[in-house]
Amino acid sequence: MSNVFAAAHFNNDDAARNLIESIRWPDGPVCSHCGSINHAYAVTGRAGLYRCAEPECRKDFTCTTGTVMERSKIPLHKWMMGFYLMNASKKGISAHQLHRALGMTYQTAWFMCHRIREAMRPDDDTGTDPLGGKGKIVEADETYFGSVEEANKRTKTTSGRKFTKGGRSGPSNKRAVVSLVERGGRVRSFHPARADGNTVTAIVLDNIRSESRLHTDESRLYDFPGAAFKAHETVTHSHGEYVRGDVHTNSVEGYFSIFKRGMKGVYQHCKEKNLHRYLAEFDHRYNYRIALGFNDTDRMNAAIKGVGDKRLTYRQPH
Ligand SMILES: [Zn+2]
Repeated sequence: MSNVFAAAHFNNDDAARNLIESIRWPDGPVCSHCGSINHAYAVTGRAGLYRCAEPECRKDFTCTTGTVMERSKIPLHKWMMGFYLMNASKKGISAHQLHRALGMTYQTAWFMCHRIREAMRPDDDTGTDPLGGKGKIVEADETYFGSVEEANKRTKTTSGRKFTKGGRSGPSNKRAVVSLVERGGRVRSFHPARADGNTVTAIVLDNIRSESRLHTDESRLYDFPGAAFKAHETVTHSHGEYVRGDVHTNSVEGYFSIFKRGMKGVYQHCKEKNLHRYLAEFDHRYNYRIALGFNDTDRMNAAIKGVGDKRLTYRQPH
């Protein structure tokens, strides 16, 4: 048995920087200002600092410039530990746990967790191609949990409240989550303000290829968009029908089950405005899961690959 934390990138910043550079820049340093590839030289005196050689640019950058790790006082090897732990824990890891395990303040750990979630969010150009395709099945379902009031701090009673499924377009005071899972493939999750017909229609039509077969439960939300697909097949959960031939929604329900256990067991306090970030985290781990041939390191490296070009919305704690 090997100890993964013995790896140099978890113990010193030079090795961590080399790892980040090798993942982000397989073809040589990429200027974070003008995008030129492998046309930069190392600036002597500071390891990891490059200067762009494009005459109209000439700017300095490192492998963290313009990334979720920019302007952070967290040492790079601790970033690598954070990336590893968040990717290797099936249900996630709390900022409290990282704060204790990595010897950083809670605030810093919280900041790091959200930045890592941001890195896990698919890039607009690479991660938003539709699911499914010819001969493929995509399952769609919605779920509800917590309450909107809790997010606004009007009540204090909802921590640990059971996740419930609402009828039709769902209870208006619950947070809605809509997930699409390609059978044997990727997931894509959404947190609309309300899972009503128009919203669900837009999500389904924008994110699933029309050659796919769409599988849902008997919810009427999918009737209209369902007609756009090769087939729309349903199982009637209210009549105890869960599988009929190859028609079922077990994949998307399995995803919800991991998500809910994580949200309830690990992330007990999630503000509504952050819910989409948690969904990105659970989606990322699911999309790089073992069943698809990815191990903990692949999953971590995929998240590190996503550190750049993200809009940064969190202020750095002191
Ligand atoms: Zn440049």
